[in-house]
Amino acid sequence: MERKAPGTPLDRWIAGKVHGGRGAPSFVSREDLDRYHLERLREAVDYARDRSPYYARRLNGFSGGGLDSFADVAALPFTTERDIKDSPLSFLCVSQDEIARVVTLNTSGTTGPSKRLFFTAGDLELTIDFFHHGMSTLVSPGQRVLILLPGEKRDSVGDLLKRGLARMNVEGVVHGPVRDVDRALSDIVKFDIDCLVGIPTQVLWMVRHGGRGIPAGRIGSVLLSTDYVPKAIVDEIGRVWGCPVFSHYGTTETGLGFAVECAALSGHHIREADFYVEIVDPVTGLSCPDGQEGEIVFTTLTRKGMPLVRYRTGDISRFMIEPCPCGTALKRLGRVSGRFEGRVPVGRNHVLTIPDLDEALFPVPGLINYSVELVRDDDKDRLVLHLYTGKADDGDLANTAHKAAMTVPAVREAVMEGSLEVPQPNFTSTNPFTTGVGKRRLVVRTTA
Ligand SMILES: [Zn+2]
Repeated sequence: MERKAPGTPLDRWIAGKVHGGRGAPSFVSREDLDRYHLERLREAVDYARDRSPYYARRLNGFSGGGLDSFADVAALPFTTERDIKDSPLSFLCVSQDEIARVVTLNTSGTTGPSKRLFFTAGDLELTIDFFHHGMSTLVSPGQRVLILLPGEKRDSVGDLLKRGLARMNVEGVVHGPVRDVDRALSDIVKFDIDCLVGIPTQVLWMVRHGGRGIPAGRIGSVLLSTDYVPKAIVDEIGRVWGCPVFSHYGTTETGLGFAVECAALSGHHIREADFYVEIVDPVTGLSCPDGQEGEIVFTTLTRKGMPLVRYRTGDISRFMIEPCPCGTALKRLGRVSGRFEGRVPVGRNHVLTIPDLDEALFPVPGLINYSVELVRDDDKDRLVLHLYTGKADDGDLANTAHKAAMTVPAVREAVMEGSLEVPQPNFTSTNPFTTGVGKRRLVVRTTA
């Protein structure tokens, strides 16, 4: 039966890796991917167990040859952030001379060791290759991309993206995270930029900063990249700039690149040649059926420096069941709806998250960013909002933001039952800055 080749460049790229050789089909079927995954999982498990002290211990008694099905894979032990923090060097499968880049992540607000991740030049090459093919949906040869991600250091995310873009004759201009919004906006004109890649709240800042108008249609596409992208921000950027807004999900552990939307803008296609991905119940650790939300867990299939087996990301998403309009057989991750640990109990049995507040607050006209604290006080909690508008305090905006916060079901219900109070929001004169690594959090404080 003849099948039309799917319309995403990722599909062709992954087909090349899965099929190998010339004359192979330019698309992959689910059966091809399943067979490929099982073969690579066997190799990856043996490789990690034979070479890294951590997995020699952790996977003792497990053999790649014993993996006959994905149910067998689901019996392998998980790897957690704690494991990496406790002993990062014990994950190494190569000598330290072969490590090209070390990323050290300090989790703010927690004590103890920081998390370190190691990549060989070959591992970084896989990410560059993904950036090259993933970005070919957004830009064409001869265009220019303003990169609003850290990119000063060799092999940083912005640098890898720039190198990936160069492979299709697209120029990446590394600006770095936005600290001065006027400078970022003027760089669009100065470098004749066609596409922006940045952190959601920072691109929103550019869109809502009235200083310099970028006319609708001037920007061809935007890619928002981080561990979690609010839909309200996607909608606002698309509305004001009149361009498609793509979303990318990736973390340092995934080697920065991981899953990106195709032109259908309907869920993130995973780099399935390099990863085997599961969605598990965050409490029981059991596999979730497709379509159901759970924690994203991945196993690296091609990483050599510091492979990870069944790594628990802490991020919540689901596999989408319905086929993507682009026709690919690649799995799609739905919207990432924040972190499991970011679910904060309020009132009697309600759960509040930053993503819930984001979707309610970011549609408020003029709001650029905010931070939030939940103050635990005897029998009543207080939800304190600090708004950033880049302008003088605006009472109307504070009222609108207050009303918007009250539309979040957990907030409304906790207020109604008398266990939560939401005072009138106040204003902050500085934009809460993030480089994308420091995740936005609902800060919980207890009064003395
Ligand atoms: Zn698609």
